[in-house]
Amino acid sequence: GNNIYVSILYFLFCSYDWFQTDSLITLVIYTKQKDMNAELVIVDCQDKRLRGEIIVDDHSYLVAVDLDHAVSEDVAVNIAEKVGKVEIIFNKKDNIHWKMLGQPWEGHNTFIKRTDRGLFYRKCKLISKTEVTHDTKLFCLMLPKGTHLHVPIGQHVYLKQIIAGTEVVKPYTPVLPFLPLNFQEPSHHDGVHIYLMIKIYSHGLFTQALDHLQIGDYISVSNPEGNFKKSQVQTSEDLLLLAGGTGFTPMVKLLNFALTEVSCLRTVKMIFFNKTENDILWRNQLEQLIQFILSQPTKDWVGKQGKISSSLLSEFVKRSRSDSKVLICICGPAPFTEQGVQYLKDLGYSQEEIHAFTA
Ligand code: FAD
Ligand code: NAD
Repeated sequence: GNNIYVSILYFLFCSYDWFQTDSLITLVIYTKQKDMNAELVIVDCQDKRLRGEIIVDDHSYLVAVDLDHAVSEDVAVNIAEKVGKVEIIFNKKDNIHWKMLGQPWEGHNTFIKRTDRGLFYRKCKLISKTEVTHDTKLFCLMLPKGTHLHVPIGQHVYLKQIIAGTEVVKPYTPVLPFLPLNFQEPSHHDGVHIYLMIKIYSHGLFTQALDHLQIGDYISVSNPEGNFKKSQVQTSEDLLLLAGGTGFTPMVKLLNFALTEVSCLRTVKMIFFNKTENDILWRNQLEQLIQFILSQPTKDWVGKQGKISSSLLSEFVKRSRSDSKVLICICGPAPFTEQGVQYLKDLGYSQEEIHAFTA
């Protein structure tokens, strides 16, 4: 039938080859994708096991082998963006001639739907834990040396821990280590650290276990997932962000990107909804930029008060010109996001103008 034909056709779109010198092994993957970039390449090499995954739209190409001989930990990834060629380069541990790249394992040399691939996890070391508010901490995790992984804007990863004998998995959205106050320079991933801003709930199954991790402990981190496309921002004139509590996390990279790398934007606004002043994440860094609205303020709060509502949004989300291209991003507790999206639709915004971050 149709499906079989299509998958064979796709299969032909990616292929790999490898070659060697006395000291190096070079794996070359031909994707034939024009806008290949570092975020679309995920490599894990531990001991002799190599896994290289290439994202091509909603598909995934995989090279997965047990290498013929040992390689040193460091892996280099070179990308020829225009022609879609990806080179993954390893140093041989011993200068011997390899007869083959290695023994294939499950999924090797397949091109399938991303959703059918299944998540891959690697163990990351907890480097630091910093207080952000009374209940929220910034966790810094370090990727292993043999891993190449960049989490794209608007995407999340899954953390996995064994809690009381059971595997538990929860999604978290990487942030930057801080917001650059003047937003002059784009702030880029250093390729090694992943920063997560996580609220510790007093009865939370996962976050309690996370809070008990010691510096130097390991935790499993998955490949990125999510359907946000940064091209949505690159074509907008007005960007409006609505965040509730830790729903702020996807907004961090988004703000940084919008304010440093998108030239067509005329206005960028964010409303940050929190219960109390003490709950506002990165308040000092944000104060000059955004509007805070508290749902449970103390009586000396002079700022705005209330929950997300139609009248509040109609006041806030005005187009800078009657025909501006608008993108409204919303993230927070599920009822907050659902109500917000409904209000925005009622105010006449289309599906394409709204991006809701959900699971
Ligand atoms: P649970 O054991 O599930 O819940 C225990 C108690 O904690 C509940 O009774 C409730 O009082 C409270 N609680 C738990 N979950 C919620 C909730 N979702 N809303 C309100 N109260 C709750 N969280 C972050 O802190 N940072 C992030 O960057 C982040 N990114 C996410 C990205 C995605 C795509 C999604 C879907 C969620 C994200 N979350 C994030 C939430 C996170 O995945 C967990 O739901 C959260 O950490 C609670 O897990 P837990 O096991 O500790 O709590
Ligand atoms: P919180 O309880 O501190 O609430 C923050 C604000 O959200 C409140 O001040 C209020 O204005 C609003 N709010 C809360 N409940 C509401 C309701 N029922 N109706 C209308 N508005 C409401 O929030 P938190 O504990 O920080 O939780 C943040 C939520 O964001 C979590 O549910 C988390 O799963 C979610 N989140 C999702 C993503 C994603 O990408 N999908 C990323 C990060 C966080």
